[in-house]
Amino acid sequence: MTQNPIILIGAGLAGVTSFYELAARGLPTVLIDGETQIAQGASFANGAVLHPSLPDPWNNPGIGVPLLASVFNPLAPMKLHLGQVPKLLGWGASFLRNSAPARHRAITQANYSLAQYSTRQTDALRQSLGLQFEASEPGTLKLFHTSAERAAALAMAELLAPQGLVYEKLDADALLAREPSLAQAGDPPMGALYFPNDRVGNARVFCEQLLAQGQKLGGELRLGARATKLLRESGRVVGVEVDGEALLGQVVVSAGVGARALLAPLGINLPVQPAKGYSLTLSTASLEGTVLAHPLVDPRLHISVTPLPNRLRILGMAEFIGHDRAIEPRRSRLLQQFFERLLPDMAAQLDWSSGEAWAGLRPMSSDGRPFIGATPIEGLWLNCGHGHLGWTMAVGSARLLADLMTGAAPEIAPAPFAVSGRKL
Ligand SMILES: Cc1cc2nc3c(=O)[nH]c(=O)nc-3n(C[C@H](O)[C@H](O)[C@H](O)COP(=O)(O)OP(=O)(O)OC[C@H]3O[C@@H](n4cnc5c(N)ncnc54)[C@H](O)[C@@H]3O)c2cc1C
Repeated sequence: MTQNPIILIGAGLAGVTSFYELAARGLPTVLIDGETQIAQGASFANGAVLHPSLPDPWNNPGIGVPLLASVFNPLAPMKLHLGQVPKLLGWGASFLRNSAPARHRAITQANYSLAQYSTRQTDALRQSLGLQFEASEPGTLKLFHTSAERAAALAMAELLAPQGLVYEKLDADALLAREPSLAQAGDPPMGALYFPNDRVGNARVFCEQLLAQGQKLGGELRLGARATKLLRESGRVVGVEVDGEALLGQVVVSAGVGARALLAPLGINLPVQPAKGYSLTLSTASLEGTVLAHPLVDPRLHISVTPLPNRLRILGMAEFIGHDRAIEPRRSRLLQQFFERLLPDMAAQLDWSSGEAWAGLRPMSSDGRPFIGATPIEGLWLNCGHGHLGWTMAVGSARLLADLMTGAAPEIAPAPFAVSGRKL
């Protein structure tokens, strides 16, 4: 008798990495996606940084007041839209509950363990499979402009240092020595923390390359295949309905912000909501002189700049605006203004008219950590809800899922990411 394949719904970072990890363990797998190409969701043009240094959920203590105030500020970096308030009541209450300092710290530490593991495993895959995805190892610089920002950045680094986070404190001079392009800064940072173990890589290209490896191992890809329903029999999930056709097998939901709608008919109220972010990718062909050497992160504004080969990407912001993926020109303009203030000489040389603007929806869980593993329903597994950490955590999450599905001993503690025990 032939074994039914494992069906993975969603071919973004979470789905493609899970597809590969399961195929690499000799399991038959089918990866389906409603789009006609892979990685068309949040994994398309994200910030391109693997950043274990930023594992803290975005519901940092004290978030409640500014988040509510953002309703009245059209361009707040993290913005709640009034029309979404009724839909986000339950999720929002949990988001705020989990912003209590002790909870937030514990989740930050758990996220760090997965993020660090995942980044190492991404390096290992890159080397063992010879993947080429514009990967580099410049580390990242977290900038601060005030003593309070400096104290917050240091507190986070000190919290994670016992778990292995390596960081270097840089004052203004040391920062300039490391990143000379900042000599032109209009609003010079007073310093930064440097995280040498963060990485850069193009998530979409990575997905394409890893997909090919999974296919070589026998995995099957079906595009233009939207899952409309999870099929249930005698209390178990036995497959997926796609265009009226039943695909039979165990199911992994790795559908990003699409996961919630798929699970709701089964009574699973997955607390994952879209947090819309923007990116703007510009060619650096016109640049003369100093170029950017490191990704720069401004945690105040949730905005970063990442250098990629022959281009740079400015990204950030979080809007709670449902599943809307429209590109709001004022938001792209904010990214440009941020860059103009930070690196004015470079900004003046860039051709902004040919910048590629993009918006994507981060699948953000209300407690700031992903869901990885079995659900209370037999035959149904999750790998979703990675929020702003989906690239950083992708390979590690997929390995953890594959360990759990095959009964292998996980290499990191699975409990913080388990579905059971969390309020659904
Ligand atoms: C602006 C921005 C910058 C970011 N920067 C970074 C960064 O620098 N580092 C980092 O670690 N993370 C970053 N992230 C987060 C990261 O990109 C996401 O966490 C990650 O892409 C989520 O991957 P995913 O596979 O879960 O979801 P997605 O990539 O959205 O994939 C989900 C897939 O499921 C498919 N799907 C949904 N429903 C169905 C259905 N019913 N049937 C079939 N297919 C379905 C969709 O078509 C989609 O292809 C960023 C995100 C944004 C928006």
